[in-house]
Amino acid sequence: MPRKRRVTWPVMADILERQKHFWELRLSVFVLDKRKRPLMPCSERRARKLLASGRARVHRLYPFAIRLVDRALDSSEVQPMRLSFDPGSKITGLALSRAESVVDASTGEISVPVMHIAFLMELVHRGQQIKDALTARSAMRRRRRTENLRHRKPRFLNRGGDKTGWIAPSLMHRVHTIMSWVCRIRKLAPVTHLAQELVKFDMQKMQAEAAGKEISCLEYQQGTLFGYEIREFLLEKWGRTCMYCENKDIPLQIEHITPKARGGSNRISNLGLACQCCNQKKGSTDVKDFVKDPARLKRILAQAKAPLKDAAAVNTTRWVLFNQLKSTDLPVSTGTGGQTKFNRTRLGIHQGHALDAACVGDVSNVLCPAKPVLTVKCMGRGSYCRTRLNAFGFPRGYLMRKKQVHGFQTGDMVKAVVNKGKKVGTHDGRVAIRETGFFNIQTSTGAVQGISHKHCQIIQRGDGYRYSLSPVKDSKSQASQGRALHDALSLPALKDRVSRAIPG
Ligand SMILES: [Zn+2]
Repeated sequence: MPRKRRVTWPVMADILERQKHFWELRLSVFVLDKRKRPLMPCSERRARKLLASGRARVHRLYPFAIRLVDRALDSSEVQPMRLSFDPGSKITGLALSRAESVVDASTGEISVPVMHIAFLMELVHRGQQIKDALTARSAMRRRRRTENLRHRKPRFLNRGGDKTGWIAPSLMHRVHTIMSWVCRIRKLAPVTHLAQELVKFDMQKMQAEAAGKEISCLEYQQGTLFGYEIREFLLEKWGRTCMYCENKDIPLQIEHITPKARGGSNRISNLGLACQCCNQKKGSTDVKDFVKDPARLKRILAQAKAPLKDAAAVNTTRWVLFNQLKSTDLPVSTGTGGQTKFNRTRLGIHQGHALDAACVGDVSNVLCPAKPVLTVKCMGRGSYCRTRLNAFGFPRGYLMRKKQVHGFQTGDMVKAVVNKGKKVGTHDGRVAIRETGFFNIQTSTGAVQGISHKHCQIIQRGDGYRYSLSPVKDSKSQASQGRALHDALSLPALKDRVSRAIPG
């Protein structure tokens, strides 16, 4: 049975019309020229007009892209666009923004760019599923070996070879899917440079500081990036707890372990975190006199001296990703996690993987954060193994040999119009096929079961991902939440002498 043809524009227009939120979400639409080369994204209003006047065709539904029939790239102007990443263990945020920097005519200096967000995306990884599948496979193989070939001598540690640069498949999958989305987005938008959050803290700077280069107290002041990173670093290093009473979830202040009044330095190894109560109680007494319990004192001093590398774990996957990004022909810039958070709080932007990505690196401002986020979940393309197994590795059932039924395949995005019966209505979403020809459809509101293939039409072929659009978060509450977060994190600036709580 040949694959079904994709539906044409009128059917898609109907879907978009019914999914009104699609249009009202202040969505940016990707635009291609007549040769399918990327142009600047446009607003959804403009896309709607272009489609209605027949000047454009729908190119792709998720992410939504249109193709102009009468425009070529050569006769169009494109601006620099930055694609930035905030790689996470379960979710990676991606943000595509138009970078606007001003060149000072007199000095020739280029200002730190303002980012206009065009597209936000969250890529949900499936590392755990991959790990589980591989563990199950290895258990199955082990069972086969011990059960059927028990007379054979065990063979193990026979998988030698060079494993430098190797990372586990569950982690490599993150790199692969991100790289695949870099390629996809580059086909839809004129991306000119990439930016990635590479490390949590700028360790080089901190190492230099630890090596003896004193930083002036000014740099600890609120509002400077480095001061912010130091605070973030201390929060991480001390596990967000008071070092004396070990209370959690309370406002913490920067604390000199050996007080400045007794010759203590500003070095990171001399800084800790304490709640206001302990901080005041300690005052300018020495830590050795303040902490009576010798075991606790030993622990505190050991933690303070802990090498910086251990406090901020080095993330291998991010480096692998960074090297892969460098292998594209685009320039790659990097930022630190502290910098991202600094930008986000400074600009009062709501927390989220995609918005974090927009705040990565050197940005002076981030505009239009009120955009819907396209959530893209990695689903895989089904398994090769046709046998379903129980927890003990014994066959439980068999999947059908072919992966298609009536031209549909699990993972396709379909639209089903049912006119009568219990399931009456229009359902669109990701389909899971059944040999009977009655499919399950995962819609945005839930799963609908037992829909006949006769009612279904493919709107986008399965490509290993499941798509959903999240509604816009209210920009007003965003700003206030950003402030609340800032207050929660703010630690009083250090005084020159003893570390003291700020009154009130
Ligand atoms: Zn305390």
